[in-house]
Amino acid sequence: MAQHFLLSPQCRSMSLLTVAEMSEDSAHEKFKSIIWEANGGNPICPECGCTDVWVIRKNRRWTCSDKACRAQFSVTSHTIFKDRKLSFRKILTACAIFANGVMGVAACRLSREIDISYKSAWVLLHKVRDAMGKDAEAVQLGGVVEIDGAVFGGSLPRLPNSKELWAEFKKKHKAAAKKKQKLIVVMRERDDHEAGVIGRLRTFLLGKEGDAIEIARDTLLPDTVVHADMSPQWEPLHMLFDTKRINHSEHFSKDGACTNMAESLFERMRCAERGVHKHISGAHIHRYAMELGWREQYRRRSNGEHLHLMISTIGRTPPSKTLVGYWQGRKSKRVGPYPANDQDGDDAIAYLTG
Ligand SMILES: [Zn+2]
Repeated sequence: MAQHFLLSPQCRSMSLLTVAEMSEDSAHEKFKSIIWEANGGNPICPECGCTDVWVIRKNRRWTCSDKACRAQFSVTSHTIFKDRKLSFRKILTACAIFANGVMGVAACRLSREIDISYKSAWVLLHKVRDAMGKDAEAVQLGGVVEIDGAVFGGSLPRLPNSKELWAEFKKKHKAAAKKKQKLIVVMRERDDHEAGVIGRLRTFLLGKEGDAIEIARDTLLPDTVVHADMSPQWEPLHMLFDTKRINHSEHFSKDGACTNMAESLFERMRCAERGVHKHISGAHIHRYAMELGWREQYRRRSNGEHLHLMISTIGRTPPSKTLVGYWQGRKSKRVGPYPANDQDGDDAIAYLTG
C-alpha cells in the first residue's frame, strides 16, 4: 500500500523552529522575496508597478520615483496586512503554524502560540482565509468536474440530562438550528493521474443547490463532463453539460459516476468543525470553505510550499472590506453585495468564491 503523503519526507520542507528563530530583518526579507518574486525580491510600487524606487531609511518603506507616482509604500501596502500592528516575525510564524494545520488552526490556539490576543488571531486567520479564496477566483474549471452541496453550522445545544425532555428540547431548538445552517456548494475537477495534475476546486455559499446552475454556466468550460447526485436541483445540468448522476442511496460510485472528490472536501470541513474549531459560525462558513478548499487543492505540496503559496497570495490580495477594523465596529456595517439568504448581518460578502 502506498505511503500517505503526510508520512513521507517530501511533505516536510519547512521547520517551525527555523521560522520562529528568524530575526525581524530576516522575516521582512522573506516577505520581500516572495511578494516581489517577479522582481527578484526588489521593491515594486503597488500603485503604478514602477521598479524605479528610493529607499526611505526608516520603517522599511520605499518611495516611488519622481518620474512615476511618488507614492510611499511598504511590502504589505495594498495587501491584507496593510496597516499591520504585528511584527513580520509574528505574522510569518502565524502563517507557518497555519500552513502546518492540515485541518486548519483555531484562533484560540494561535493566540497562545504567538502571544497575541484572541481577537487579533481571529482576524489574522480570517484575512489569510480570504486571501486563500482569492487564489481560486475567476478560475474556469474543465475536464471532469464533480458538483455537490452540503450544509454546515447550526448545531443543537447540549441535550439535557433527563431523556424525557429530549423530544421537547429538540422540537424547540431544531428550527432555530436549521435557520443558522448554511449551504456550501463545491465544484471540483478530478485529478488527472496520468498527467500528474491535481484538480482545482471552487466553493460557493448559496441559498439552495439550484442556484449553482447559473454559476456552473460561467465557471465550467462548455465541454466539461459533470458528475452530480440525484438531487432534483441538478436536473438543469443535463441541458448545459454532459452530465452523469449517481444515486447515493444505492452506490457511492457506479460506471465511473461519483461525487467522492466533492464529498472529500465536505469530510475535511466536518473534521475541521468537530476536531479543530468545535463550532463554525454560519456567518463565516464561506471563509472556512475557501481555506479547506485551498488545503484540498494543495494537499500534495510540502509545508514550505504551503507557506510560500500563502504569502504569495497574501501579496496579491487587497485589504478586506469587512475584516479591516472588524472589532472596532466595522462588522456591523453591511457593505454588500450579499444574497438574500444571509440573515446574520455581519457578513458583507456572503456570496464569495474560493
Ligand atoms: Zn508608483
